[in-house]
Amino acid sequence: MSGATLAPQDAAVATSIGDNSIASYDVEAVRRDFPILGQEVYGKPLVYLDNAASAQKPAVVIDSMRETMETYYSNVHRGLHRLSQLSTDAFEAARDKVAGFINAESSDEIVFLRGATEAINLVAFSYGRAFLKAGDEVLISEMEHHANIVPWQLLRDETGIVIKVVPIDDDGNLMLETYKELLSPKTKLVAMTHISNALGTIVPIKEVIRLAHAAGAKVLVDGCQAGPHMKIDVRDLDADFYCFSSHKVYGPTGIGVLYGKLDILNSMPPHHGGGEMIDRVTFEKTTYKEAPHRFEPGTPAIIEAIGFGAAVDYVKNLGQERIAAHEHGLMAYATERMSEIEGVRIIGQAQEKASIVSFVMDSAHAHDIGTIIDRAGVAVRAGHHCAQPLMARFEVSATARASFGLYNTRAEVDALVAALYKVKELLG
Ligand code: PLP
Repeated sequence: MSGATLAPQDAAVATSIGDNSIASYDVEAVRRDFPILGQEVYGKPLVYLDNAASAQKPAVVIDSMRETMETYYSNVHRGLHRLSQLSTDAFEAARDKVAGFINAESSDEIVFLRGATEAINLVAFSYGRAFLKAGDEVLISEMEHHANIVPWQLLRDETGIVIKVVPIDDDGNLMLETYKELLSPKTKLVAMTHISNALGTIVPIKEVIRLAHAAGAKVLVDGCQAGPHMKIDVRDLDADFYCFSSHKVYGPTGIGVLYGKLDILNSMPPHHGGGEMIDRVTFEKTTYKEAPHRFEPGTPAIIEAIGFGAAVDYVKNLGQERIAAHEHGLMAYATERMSEIEGVRIIGQAQEKASIVSFVMDSAHAHDIGTIIDRAGVAVRAGHHCAQPLMARFEVSATARASFGLYNTRAEVDALVAALYKVKELLG
């Protein structure tokens, strides 16, 4: 059962886009796919607007994982018995699904890791240690998540690389002209977010990649926030590396992906050692398998990978363009309604934005906002969003962030807005 009723405007959103596919976006049917959404919180329908932190799971994901455990679970790759073969097939099928989801050329380019954080660390400590040396420059942006800052600092402390930061303007747009000026023959790697988790800015990543390549640099894209919100085509982007986490694309926690061009992956040394990643081991010397297995030592997250595969299938079947159009409508509506509330300031009004509205209020700290509206059943995130340098850029310690997913409705935006008026009433 759905937790929130469909506002008449939802139907309007569905049809005003003017294209046939979005006209058939039935958000109430979508909501029924997510068992958790039917519940109440403090006696109010749950309004889940914390999707940028982690998204809820559809029944097909939950079922795929339960089915794995109930019917064919076993360890993968190393068993000759029937269950191990079935598990291996399902695990590798999940890799194929993820490869298809981002249009990778080969499933061998898909490395399963714990998530985007581990993926970025793998690039820093495998690719970085092997190919970057003192004085080489890594460009990141001012709006990176800590996951795409700290690994480069650790690498800098170890190797003497130089980190340069591409600024953003007051609306949260990447300053492309400054980026061009920062690129030089010293630039060896550009590590940049596709969509900012704290602002919603969509970075013109294809152009960023083109310019980086022209300067002779490789590019790692942190696609954590793009995975759930837009169609990703790593070949069209020509990304060297691309990563995202399953739990933000409606899949389970504990798994994510690093895509890498195959020749680059195979040129990189393993980052962790153990079983399954080796070709031959003697006490004197070990040789390694090709990618992706050389980066996947030990027993992988088998059940989670299968759930991840089911999640990307779900998103793909629903249609990424239709999802993006639906979410864009919600974001535009939320921006309009929240702008009407006196004392609310939206942080991040980039030209291209996805699904995230970060804001502060004159009268209330972000944590107070989060706590008060929680009582109305509205779940948002309040804090620095693992982007402290970005908070410093906007001279705030924290923001409240409403982030929309494929199951959210305009009625839920209304619930958020009503809850914010309540905050004003309580705190002035
Ligand atoms: N990068 C961005 C832009 C994110 O939003 C997040 C998570 O919030 C991460 C990286 C880290 O992802 P994970 O915690 O799944 O490894």
